[in-house]
Amino acid sequence: MRLNIDELALFKRSLRYVHDVVPHPAGDRLQACLDAQRLALVERGALSPERRDEALGALADSIVRHTDDFVTAVAADFGHRSAHETRLADLYPVVASLRHARRHFRKWMKPRRRPIQWMFKPGTGRILYQPLGVVGIVSPWNYPVQLTLSPLTGALAAGNRVMIKPSELTPRTSALLEQVITEVFDPTEVAVLQGGPDVAKAFSHLTFDHLLFTGSTHVGRQVMQAAAENLVPVTLELGGKSPALIAGDYPVEKAAERIAVGKLFNAGQTCIAPDYVLVPRRSEEAFVSAYRKAVSSLYPTLADNPDYTAIIDERHLERLRHLIADAREHGACVHEINPGEEYLNPALRKIAPVVMTGVPEHAQVLQQEIFGPLLPVVAYDDVEQACRFIGARPHPLALYLFSHEGQAIDHVLARTSSGGVAINDTLLHCVQEELPFGGIGASGMGAYHGEAGFRTFSHARSVFHQARFNGAGMTKPPYGSRMNRMLSMLLR
Ligand code: NAD
Repeated sequence: MRLNIDELALFKRSLRYVHDVVPHPAGDRLQACLDAQRLALVERGALSPERRDEALGALADSIVRHTDDFVTAVAADFGHRSAHETRLADLYPVVASLRHARRHFRKWMKPRRRPIQWMFKPGTGRILYQPLGVVGIVSPWNYPVQLTLSPLTGALAAGNRVMIKPSELTPRTSALLEQVITEVFDPTEVAVLQGGPDVAKAFSHLTFDHLLFTGSTHVGRQVMQAAAENLVPVTLELGGKSPALIAGDYPVEKAAERIAVGKLFNAGQTCIAPDYVLVPRRSEEAFVSAYRKAVSSLYPTLADNPDYTAIIDERHLERLRHLIADAREHGACVHEINPGEEYLNPALRKIAPVVMTGVPEHAQVLQQEIFGPLLPVVAYDDVEQACRFIGARPHPLALYLFSHEGQAIDHVLARTSSGGVAINDTLLHCVQEELPFGGIGASGMGAYHGEAGFRTFSHARSVFHQARFNGAGMTKPPYGSRMNRMLSMLLR
């Protein structure tokens, strides 16, 4: 059945009506949106290359135009968020990835010819990269713009229609995202659906063609279960404990500075923040003192420091305080680094950076993802022991290795597993458009960014094209001696 354009318009009106006027249960509102996008897909197909080009450009321009609004909204949601970090980590990567995708998506979408085995020649083979259909995106609060719009970039470049469920913990940013999306897209192309965990849960039960979830491993499990009911394929961008490993040959002062930068960006609320650090036992004290020095120089004050971000909410602040108390109870030595003030006003929700030594493995801070400015130091005697420590835990999202020795680097890379790696720095592998970004095992599955995002949201459709004159007649029943001769040749 072909639906005409009036019926589509009716659906769109009903979607707006459902969205704006009727207090529907969460599931109905979401289903109405999905139905409207599916109908548009049937009626008008996927986004044409011209529309993708226009949309990627318009979205980038709109974000640039709204830079100050985003900085203000994110800061209000966090209580305080460094304006530089919002521009650097939430806005710049999105604008860069939109422009990168716009420049390259026509090349990515080109069909690829594939060789055909000799006995099927002169038939030909090729792969077509086609949009999946309607994609769902669920995003977290820690980089609320980047982690919503970067997946959207890949999905749009591949020509999909998209429904987005942003985080309820950043309501002002989510509202602004909805405003920007509405300025650029018709809701049958891209729609933002706001709501808390109930809406998120209903969202993850929808029959999308693909669902990309960014968030905690705990919720990721539930999302995968919900998606499995409908056989919806998932990309899971989850969390975990990303180690930093300082090899014996690397100067600890230099490593401490890069680890402090990566750890304290967004006050540690970064999925790929170095979670804990493995340090040669003989350098443990030197590392603690270098880390203190680095932190004090990066953040000479905390409470009034515009560069130092607050913790997102009271629950997370309490969780971090509990991790510190639990480590102390387990006998760890806890060094608070609070150079400017003796006391941080709790209303600010800022927590001073902490470095810990002598932390037993069963302390919570070495069990849970920290997601805050606390850094446990784990001393090791040889690199094998450090690799075993990493290998005995769920696969992390990132691994940071500090060494100048090629052999040592190759050895650690071969002996460990992680979603991504940065060598002699932290965080920066994540902003390389040409490197796929994703986890492994407990830190996630699938990847996106740049071409990897395009591939994630495309169906690689195999096409075998039989030639007009071909040898297909040779391989059909009744099988006889000719077939026997051919098979004995093939199975030689
Ligand atoms: P979260 O899992 O609590 O929430 C993420 C999103 O899931 C939110 O939009 C929320 O509304 C939704 N949600 C909540 N319950 C749900 C349910 N039952 N079904 C479906 N969706 C549900 O995560 P968070 O606290 O927002 O973010 C922090 C976590 O995300 C950390 O673990 C961090 O490591 C991880 N993270 C991972 C990446 C990555 O790229 N791998 C990036 C940022 C954050």
